[in-house]
Amino acid sequence: MTFRFGEKVVDVAVNAQGTVTTLASGKRIPAESVMYSAGRQGTTAALDLEKAGLEADHRGRLAVDPHYRTPVEHIYAVGDVIGFPALAATSMDQGRLAAYHAFDEPAHELSALQPIGIYTIPEISYCGATEAELTTSAVPYEIGTARTASSRAARSPVTPTGC
Ligand SMILES: Cc1cc2nc3c(=O)[nH]c(=O)nc-3n(C[C@H](O)[C@H](O)[C@H](O)COP(=O)(O)OP(=O)(O)OC[C@H]3O[C@@H](n4cnc5c(N)ncnc54)[C@H](O)[C@@H]3O)c2cc1C
Repeated sequence: MTFRFGEKVVDVAVNAQGTVTTLASGKRIPAESVMYSAGRQGTTAALDLEKAGLEADHRGRLAVDPHYRTPVEHIYAVGDVIGFPALAATSMDQGRLAAYHAFDEPAHELSALQPIGIYTIPEISYCGATEAELTTSAVPYEIGTARTASSRAARSPVTPTGC
């Protein structure tokens, strides 16, 4: 799997053989199929936010302070509706912290280093600096690689070649 962060899609050509996606950087990526995801939108349009004294931005998101309070202090917002990082684990933790704050209970803040979990099969996760960032800052690093094929074999010893 290859992540191409910071790239923009300028064209997806579809033909009988498959697809070719062209990126703004000039890369052309052939693939059987393409899923293009343009980000998430807060479903706040039907909430009559203005009656609560709130306003969402152009993507339906709400602004919050470091304690997840909206500008109306007794209304909290967490998760996708407040934008980045918009991940399952962080959204849940934000909710926990907001609840602690609402009840005046002390709680540890979210750590600056948040793991990214991508719930695919096989799962993909990472935490911290990327290889490119470590290379730029001249930090030596080691790589461990777990092959998908071996994890499949470990999970289903009876049919190691099954999908
Ligand atoms: C296709 C896809 C893949 C993803 N993959 C990953 C991944 O691999 N890893 C990861 O960490 N994150 C992933 N995410 C993101 C993750 O799902 C979200 O960050 C997380 O679910 C956000 O939690 P939330 O509680 O903010 O919102 P949600 O989980 O969307 O929960 C909001 C809830 O509010 C309900 N609701 C909405 N309006 C109303 C209303 N008016 N009244 C009552 N209830 C209402 C909705 O029905 C919903 O149940 C993915 C998201 C998508 C869409």
